[in-house]
Amino acid sequence: MKMKKTVVVAVFTLGLAAGLYFGTHGSSLVSPAIAKAPGSGEPAISPTQPRERHFYAPNSEALAPDEMRVIACGTGMPFTRMAQAAPCFLVELGNGDKFIFDIGSGSAERIAALEIPYDFLDKVFIGHLHGDHMGDIDALFVGGGLMGRHVPLRIWGPSGSKPELGTAAAMEHMEKMYAWDIAGRLGQTDIRGFKTEVHEFDYKKEQVVYEENGVVIRSFPAIHAIDGSVSYSLEWNGLKFVYGSDTFPNKWFIKNSKDADLVIHEAFIAVPDLVSKLGLTPEAALQVGTQIHTAPEAFGKVMSMVKPRHAVAYHFFKDHDTTGPILERIRTTYDGPLSLAEDHMVWNVTKDKITERLAIVDHHTWTPPMASAAVPIDPNDSMGYSPEIEAGKLDVKDVLQPTWEEAGKVLGREFTYPEK
Ligand SMILES: [Zn+2]
Ligand SMILES: [Zn+2]
Repeated sequence: MKMKKTVVVAVFTLGLAAGLYFGTHGSSLVSPAIAKAPGSGEPAISPTQPRERHFYAPNSEALAPDEMRVIACGTGMPFTRMAQAAPCFLVELGNGDKFIFDIGSGSAERIAALEIPYDFLDKVFIGHLHGDHMGDIDALFVGGGLMGRHVPLRIWGPSGSKPELGTAAAMEHMEKMYAWDIAGRLGQTDIRGFKTEVHEFDYKKEQVVYEENGVVIRSFPAIHAIDGSVSYSLEWNGLKFVYGSDTFPNKWFIKNSKDADLVIHEAFIAVPDLVSKLGLTPEAALQVGTQIHTAPEAFGKVMSMVKPRHAVAYHFFKDHDTTGPILERIRTTYDGPLSLAEDHMVWNVTKDKITERLAIVDHHTWTPPMASAAVPIDPNDSMGYSPEIEAGKLDVKDVLQPTWEEAGKVLGREFTYPEK
């Protein structure tokens, strides 16, 4: 019972703290009843006019020229679940640039829900090659190509201790895995987006890996599983974003997070829950939860050293019974501004303020508009069918020819139903 009480107090305290840290824009955790007490002179609540909303609705807000918007498109664990995709964070800048950091399993549908034209989603930075950090790269490669990306998918990622363990090898094999898919698109789809442009860099170096349009992205070593994991920083317009991907607390992270605005670092599920929820042995839980990953109390120590404007913890299943223990453990070592991330959490960052909201998304989105014109497709480019397969077609011309005629009437053109 004592444990439960403490958890409730801790969560409530976070809510109050968040209300004090943030301004009014989208993050008023102080209830309107308190903010506008009777007799305060504030205008009365209108029965017909809308009031301020405290969520982010995709495709409804301009990004200011000096603003950064970060959206969590995956915050979970290596285990697939409906409520949380595996790690993925989208960074949108006021200059129009967009960057995806990690693209874990299940995150592509979270990205799709943001209704962003796919030409704009052409830059992915992978921290390491675990499936929960790159498992949906193929969904963005193929799906993005189908949904309007007409440019190659650009992918940055670390080398490995051997060539076959690096990002270039992984992406080469990913494209090979889709040989049939790509062959089948020829003559049927605009396939200009079905290409990758891979930039593999030395995982051991601290270096600039991207510098365009006023945006500088650096990589620096991370310590996770085996050699070949990295973390990233992104600097633009006096704002700094840092993304750890997976790592044990390390000196490079502290150094490269200096003066950062938004700092995202893993905080893995607490050791007792690794035993009770995942059935790990205590020995395995200690190894996975405190050595391969960063335990919540160690996350707190990292953030106490970094002192970011705002810290974000991710990489845990955020449930009613796991969130309290994670927060309690973090609060033993860190008392600064903090978000416990969940999917579609949104941070707006300017020099003046940082706000945290949740996005409310349409689960039934179709493809967003294309940012560049499609090119005509020549059906003669298709490989087509072999005679044996072609010969298996039923004759359904009688039911489909009217469909072709109907389309012709609607579009004011003439379509000729294909003869065998
Ligand atoms: Zn990992
Ligand atoms: Zn991971």
